Amino acid sequence: MTIKKLSRRKFIEALGTAGAISVVPWLPANIAQAKSAGRIIIVGGGYGGATCANYLRQYDPGLEVVMVEASKKIVTCPFSNTVIGGIYKINQLTHGYGGLKKNGVKVINDLVTNIDPSEKKIRLKSGETLKYDRLVISPGIDFKWELIDGYDEAASRIVPHAWKAGEQTVLLRKQLEAMPDGGKVLIATPPKPFRCPPGPYERASLIAHYLKKHKPKSKIIILDANKKFSKQGLFTQGWKKLYPGMIEWIQGSDTTEIESLDVKSRVLKTTFGQTFKADVMNVIPAQKAGVIAHRTDLVNEYGWCPVDQRTFESTKHKHIHVIGDASVAGAMPKSGYSANSQAKVCAAAIISSLRSVPMPEPAYSNTCYSLISPDYGISVAAVYRLKDNKIAKVSGGVSPTKASKRFRRDEADHARDWYRGVVEDSFAAKVKI
Ligand SMILES: Cc1cc2nc3c(=O)[nH]c(=O)nc-3n(C[C@H](O)[C@H](O)[C@H](O)COP(=O)(O)OP(=O)(O)OC[C@H]3O[C@@H](n4cnc5c(N)ncnc54)[C@H](O)[C@@H]3O)c2cc1C
Repeated sequence: MTIKKLSRRKFIEALGTAGAISVVPWLPANIAQAKSAGRIIIVGGGYGGATCANYLRQYDPGLEVVMVEASKKIVTCPFSNTVIGGIYKINQLTHGYGGLKKNGVKVINDLVTNIDPSEKKIRLKSGETLKYDRLVISPGIDFKWELIDGYDEAASRIVPHAWKAGEQTVLLRKQLEAMPDGGKVLIATPPKPFRCPPGPYERASLIAHYLKKHKPKSKIIILDANKKFSKQGLFTQGWKKLYPGMIEWIQGSDTTEIESLDVKSRVLKTTFGQTFKADVMNVIPAQKAGVIAHRTDLVNEYGWCPVDQRTFESTKHKHIHVIGDASVAGAMPKSGYSANSQAKVCAAAIISSLRSVPMPEPAYSNTCYSLISPDYGISVAAVYRLKDNKIAKVSGGVSPTKASKRFRRDEADHARDWYRGVVEDSFAAKVKI
């Protein structure tokens, strides 16, 4: 089908599968038709893990693909800011793994507690052990709790981070609903690198969207750990237009850190001696690769997993691939779309390796939409290639600063189309938004 014949909506939805286009056509017919032997285990059924499982089965329906995921259902971080802003409900972002199972992926709902790279086996919380020929881990992120005095997992049930979607998202939403008009909301962003670079600013926008309608005397402070942020010009332009005077951005120095947090009184102190108090606080801590990566000694001194950026095979342990937020993936941001794109490259690398054929030259992509309101969208998109064995950006850009109301509304529609497309591509699930 030509692009001309596709409706605009279908085209954006199809972008969700764009990463596949660069690797699938490479497989020659004799290789595409042959069967690989072996068991691939995937740890984590988020954007990276689910996509990899799905594509391994699509590339090679004969392959045994086992995906171990701690939760029965995935609640997606993409679009979770719309729940915080009161636009969608959490169940609209909650998806099961039925589609993956239909595609032949064996899904085990359990926690991987241990990986033994020398024996090539994993242990589950239930006590079961499983052998693998190749292991892919996409465990997402965990938090460096130790950097903020007074903040830990238990404290996050009072002052939520809402940086893993689900209960935390709903908690933050409820706190905003309970806040009186004239209240102060504080969002503290983490130092780079962190999952979803535009996420905190989209969150401030959609909270402002809610407050403008229901509690117009309220204010939002963004206490930034960084000097600048993703799509900054576009966000600040949108804030001036839609929420004049409501959002205050406090620039960080790239070394600004939160020193302590008293969750009961909601008082926060920075390393520069500033003190902040707010009615609703959203503190997003500094991040590192998911715990299982640390326990398996797959991480570098910064807490992320170095990989061969062509195949995503760990540089620390053979036959273990790390994708998604946990990996060090050159210039790619830590996003769901990046994880989806990396997963396809990784699947192609594993199949190539199992069939002893060289891997194709990979291409990777990322598109990230942000909603400043339900009718005002902005985006950033990029294509990446390997340069000197590192993933480097070769083209891309952001939405224009000069654009009509109609253009921004179309981008907001594209954001919803993107979400439907990427969820279907990653989780083989249909979205109701
Ligand atoms: C507010 C917010 C908004 C965002 N919006 C966007 C957006 O619009 N577009 C975009 O592209 N990205 C967005 N992101 C980023 C995106 O959510 C992440 O980059 C993406 O989820 C990374 O995928 P992953 O596979 O690395 O990790 P995840 O999707 O987090 O998946 C990890 C999975 O591994 C499981 N797991 C971990 N350890 C184990 C274990 N030991 N055993 C079994 N299971 C385990 C977890 O339960 C989890 O399901 C957003 C993030 C946030 C916080």
